[in-house]
Amino acid sequence: MSKLVSKWNYPTTVRFGAGRISELPDALAATGIKKPLFVTDPGLAKLPVVASTLKILDDAKIPYGVFSDVKPNPVESNLTAGIAAFKAGKHDGVIAFGGGSALDLGKLIAFQAGQTRPVWDFEDIGDWWTRADADAIAPIIAVPTTAGTGSEVGRAGVVTHEATHTKKVIFHPKMLPAIVIADPELTTGMPPFITAGTGMDAFAHCLEAYCAPGYHPMADGIAVEGMRLVLENLPKAYANGKDLTARAHMMSAAAMGATAFQKGLGAIHSMSHPIGALYDTHHGMTNAVFMPYVLAFNREAIEDRIVRLTGYLGIKGGFDGFAKSVLKLRKELKVPHTLPELIKGLDMDKKRKTLIADMAVVDPTAGGNPVKLTKKAASTLLDNAIEGT
Ligand code: NAD
Repeated sequence: MSKLVSKWNYPTTVRFGAGRISELPDALAATGIKKPLFVTDPGLAKLPVVASTLKILDDAKIPYGVFSDVKPNPVESNLTAGIAAFKAGKHDGVIAFGGGSALDLGKLIAFQAGQTRPVWDFEDIGDWWTRADADAIAPIIAVPTTAGTGSEVGRAGVVTHEATHTKKVIFHPKMLPAIVIADPELTTGMPPFITAGTGMDAFAHCLEAYCAPGYHPMADGIAVEGMRLVLENLPKAYANGKDLTARAHMMSAAAMGATAFQKGLGAIHSMSHPIGALYDTHHGMTNAVFMPYVLAFNREAIEDRIVRLTGYLGIKGGFDGFAKSVLKLRKELKVPHTLPELIKGLDMDKKRKTLIADMAVVDPTAGGNPVKLTKKAASTLLDNAIEGT
């Protein structure tokens, strides 16, 4: 029994359901935010989903500012500009509205605007988060418009350190949004590629959390049901973006994946992070490319767990049956099978491959992989994902 020691954290208030974006003024009042900065990305800023949300604020006569200089895979300069906008507008809280990129950047603006140390001092390493002035963190309302990262229920934000091209995870418990409005109607405009990539991200979170070593039966239970929801609903949401029931289940699965991955992630993410930072690929889609290669690599350590999982999912054929289901799902969603199919014109020399393997083994997610991710293993996984073997 002595090994059964763990720490469990559970998410925040989630107002879940179609149409609940109309509760945004009430959520602001509940969190005491009087002059929010609305953080979104430039693509979304042009879509009706943003216009109709801002109209809700206008109708409620809530003063606000808009910051939309957030690139997919946000970078340090986006954060610097966002903090400047927050301070210039004398804002007292953030509405983070969008996919993982806008959610993360919104959370990071609310966190970092009141700090005196550089953001890199709060990387998710040991207890670095205790260096922060927790009272200076502004409240956050998170409104996801994709269903994948689960950043809305998470206590971290991902931002790329531009000088080194590395994705850094910044962590603080108070970066957890005070209220989440999870309205699946906001996701119905997602194009198929983003639907597939974000949905596979949710699946990767559940799968890696479930396979991570450590004692966390609650995370395991959440991850298992999250995977069932993705397998049953992602193909439906992909085929018909307006299928609100499928969109709602995917939104749940995304939040479940992020809740589960407090247990740990693994080599899918460790490999995907350097690729995303160096080639600016979509995070979830990159995870989806690596998934079968990492599954095969981890087989010995996870076979029993996966066989137990297949019982719940109703998949026949044990580990091989599960691996086939993953391949089938990827095919249905037109996920590229190899990195060269994902990154057109990819030409990786030996030096670049070594750099990626070096980055993968020090990625914070590597420690959660059930088999030790050595440099040699990371190189092999990279070769597999390039050659499709
Ligand atoms: P994203 O936020 O980068 O968005 C991708 C694209 O989809 C953008 O062009 C955006 O404009 C568009 N989009 C978003 N919602 C839309 C909608 N409803 N309709 C039409 N278009 C829409 O993608 P993402 O996958 O949600 O987020 C990826 C980011 O999240 C990466 O930076 C990744 O590192 C990070 N991430 C964070 C966590 C975390 O725990 N904080 C976890 C996983 C990933």
